[in-house]
Amino acid sequence: MVISRVSSVVVTDLHGIGGHEHGHHQHGHHEHHHPMTVGSVRSMLREAGLRPTRQRLALAEILYAKGNRHVSAEQLHEEALTARVPVSLATVYNTLHQFTEAGLLREVAVDGTKTYFDTNTSDHHHFFIETANSVIDIPGDGLVIGDLPAPPEDMEIVRVDVVVRVRPKQR
Ligand SMILES: [Zn+2]
Repeated sequence: MVISRVSSVVVTDLHGIGGHEHGHHQHGHHEHHHPMTVGSVRSMLREAGLRPTRQRLALAEILYAKGNRHVSAEQLHEEALTARVPVSLATVYNTLHQFTEAGLLREVAVDGTKTYFDTNTSDHHHFFIETANSVIDIPGDGLVIGDLPAPPEDMEIVRVDVVVRVRPKQR
C-alpha cells in the first residue's frame, strides 16, 4: 500500500461549541471485552442508558459479536437482513447514531459521504483503503501527532482524528 494523501485532521467537539441537545455526554471512554454474549449486550445497552429493545439488541449482537470492527450503516443493514432481522436502513442509521451518542460506538467520517462506525471507542487513528472502501486501525504507536495549533480562545482540544488514505501500489 502507498499513502495517497493524508486527508483530514479533525479537531472535534471543541469545548463550548458542541450542542447540548443530548442529555448524556459520555465521550468514548467505554472499553468493551469482545466477543460479547447476548446477556452482556443487554447490560451494555442498559449501562449506556438505552432501553434494550428487540431491534437494538439484535443490531448490537451483530455489531459486537465479532470483536472490534468498522462498519457502515449499509453493511450492517445487509448483515441484519442476512441474519433475518427485519429492519429498515433508516432504523439501522438511527440505531447507530443512538449508540454513538451513548458512547458505545465511535463515528469515523472519511468524506462527507462515507461514515463508518467503530466498536473500538478508544482514541486511535485510521487508514482508509480507497479501493476497498474500508477503514482499518493504525497501530497505537504508528502515528505521532506533532505540535497542535493553539485552540481558539476559551476552548480546549478534545481529540484529534487522523485518516490516512492508502491504495495498492501503482506500477
Ligand atoms: Zn478503529
